[in-house]
Amino acid sequence: MSHFSRLCKSNHVTDEVDQLQEQIPQRLSEWEAYLLDTQNEPDIDIGSHCKKPYECDAKAYCWKVQRNIPDYSIFNIFNLGSKKQVALYEQGIVNINDIPEDFEMTDKQSQAVVNHKAQTIHIDKEAIASFVNTLTYPIYHLDFETFQQAIPEWKGISPFQQIPFQYSLHIEHEDGRLEHCEFLAVDGADPRELLAQKLCEDIPRDVTVLAYNMSFEKGVIKKLALEYEALSSHLLDIHDNIKDLMTPFQQKHYVTPSMNGSYSIKYVLPALVPEMAEAYQELDGVQNGSEAMSAFAHMSKLANVEKEKMRKALLAYCKLDTLAMVRVLEKLRRV
Ligand code: SF4
Repeated sequence: MSHFSRLCKSNHVTDEVDQLQEQIPQRLSEWEAYLLDTQNEPDIDIGSHCKKPYECDAKAYCWKVQRNIPDYSIFNIFNLGSKKQVALYEQGIVNINDIPEDFEMTDKQSQAVVNHKAQTIHIDKEAIASFVNTLTYPIYHLDFETFQQAIPEWKGISPFQQIPFQYSLHIEHEDGRLEHCEFLAVDGADPRELLAQKLCEDIPRDVTVLAYNMSFEKGVIKKLALEYEALSSHLLDIHDNIKDLMTPFQQKHYVTPSMNGSYSIKYVLPALVPEMAEAYQELDGVQNGSEAMSAFAHMSKLANVEKEKMRKALLAYCKLDTLAMVRVLEKLRRV
């Protein structure tokens, strides 16, 4: 008996579905008319309720179309806090250029505003050097790909848990030499134990491991450590040795106008290493994390030739992620 039939009861609802289907064209045209009626649309003001407890699906419309909020606005100033954002917004200020000189902010926030107004690049060389000096060679640049299942197929996984199925690892030596290791699970089986074993083979204890936005990698490794007792101590050692390449950007030690106040790798990479950002556009099949997630989740349905092609695409994508980290760090060393 499959786990689906143990969890779910089946009922024939074909007749009801047929009836509902007949009504769909009529309902769609009613809804379309409703959506096109901009005269009578709701006019609830934007605020923190648009992002919490999760981002509202209508945000692009309410913020950009209804209210013309620019891509980089007072709402993107790092840690400004909703009270101050609302205070500015209530004065009709959304553009960073319009923030009054005497508006109270932290030093970092004020610096970000000054940089934006002047459209200048801000680089705190000393702070960046102290971050870079914490990294000892060889440096293990690590990136995971994960997918999720609403009803997990394997024991010990909760609904929508991040299940790691792939990683890429660039090992950077002091003389600039790069080695590359990778793991990509076979589809249709629980990938976690093999991945954890290979990770422990590839990353020794007591070395610097680097991730971009390390909370994700740390979370994945911690769950693996809880699941596989024999590997737990080694995995926790890797976990404890992870440092975050995002730190200099999150701390605003390197800010360019094109980053739009963000420290996400999506903004940081094109600002620092544009040629690497372009390399993603040239990838065939998988160009971002969501596509990787979806590719692996659906891989079992593919014929062998297509599957092989998709595996190559996944390997190429993940490899580029860690190579991008190597290049970003290289850039930081040279500031
Ligand atoms: S984005 Fe969503 S929560 Fe915010 S005002 Fe629009 S509909 Fe309301």
